[in-house]
Amino acid sequence: MNEQILAAAREGEHHVVRFLRDLIAIPSTSSREEAVIHRIKQEMEGCGYDEVRIDPMGNILGRIGSGKKVIAYDAHVDTVDVGNPENWSVDPFTGALEDGVVYGRGACDMKGALASIVHGGRLIKQLGLEGDYTLYVVGSVQEEDCDGLCWQYIINEGKLRPDVVVITEATDLAVYRGHRGRMEIEVRTKGISCHGSAPERGVNAVYKMAPIILDIEKLNERLSGEPFLGKGTVTISDIRATSPSLCAVADSTTIHLDRRLAATDTLESAVKEIQDLPSVRNAEAEVVVLDYAVPSWKGLTYPTQKYYPTWLLPENHPVLSAGVKAFEDLFGEKPVVGRWVFSTNGVAVMGMHGIPCIGFGPGNEIYAHMATEHIPVEQLVKAAAWYAAFPVVYTACQQS
Ligand SMILES: [Zn+2]
Repeated sequence: MNEQILAAAREGEHHVVRFLRDLIAIPSTSSREEAVIHRIKQEMEGCGYDEVRIDPMGNILGRIGSGKKVIAYDAHVDTVDVGNPENWSVDPFTGALEDGVVYGRGACDMKGALASIVHGGRLIKQLGLEGDYTLYVVGSVQEEDCDGLCWQYIINEGKLRPDVVVITEATDLAVYRGHRGRMEIEVRTKGISCHGSAPERGVNAVYKMAPIILDIEKLNERLSGEPFLGKGTVTISDIRATSPSLCAVADSTTIHLDRRLAATDTLESAVKEIQDLPSVRNAEAEVVVLDYAVPSWKGLTYPTQKYYPTWLLPENHPVLSAGVKAFEDLFGEKPVVGRWVFSTNGVAVMGMHGIPCIGFGPGNEIYAHMATEHIPVEQLVKAAAWYAAFPVVYTACQQS
């Protein structure tokens, strides 16, 4: 059967490539995914999915089968913007195909994987690989702005709780089992403004922030973690101050922290670390975890805290074994088992809801968000084959 799956995936290569090039040609930054969602709907319907629906947030869910075990493949459909167009040597929105490589914004993050999962579904239909499982192929929205929000919505409001979710962000065809989480935190100091010609009459909020900045730099060096995902980090990504004029003492200062969470960090521990810094106490600075509340393309706002928990699937977890076995059966070798450096929708699925996740996707994560973003066609084909094979392997593992 595995040879048949691979052969059918290779035969269908032109379908996947054409679909990917169409997807790249439709710009889809976060909250502007409507057109790309409709293109995906058309493709899923053409591939013979049993049901295709768009939820009230704007995520698209294609269903295959109606068996007992519920499996979901997740690919976000939004991309980051192009940045400075001069950095691009190809048009980011044509899906240029050259020597077996597709170029453009979203090629590897992650319209390539999206094309592969949709066509993985087509292969299941074509080869009759249905079993006692229900597969949802999900094109999710707003990931680049707020990872996991789409899945908070799908699980809490859509009442879909899969037994396993495959996050299909780029893994270079390795099987991944987690990544660090993250948080966005602000630290705010207050001052008293006065005329800049006599600063001694006021209290400068920037000076109150200065020792905090130094303490945060030192805090980063003290952070720890377990060896697989690595240690937590903290860095200052923005600083701003307010003042009635440029000839006055600053009356407030805010720093924005990008905090990456190790497996041992929690929301509470990360906030307390900052609150306990002597400089923060001395300045009576406020420590705030930020909120996200931006409407989706459907106009739905689903507010959440900017806390994206770490997740790590244990090394001996049966879902990981199923992912590895599907790879070995198809390609006759052991896959690399690893982890992402960046964050994915797994923060909600496994980080918040405890649903087992693994990662498997075409493309190399180092090209994500770059002007050289690209994906090899060979990986799209192999990924589609794995997506066709995994549900049967997983279902069999669950029964044995
Ligand atoms: Zn991504």
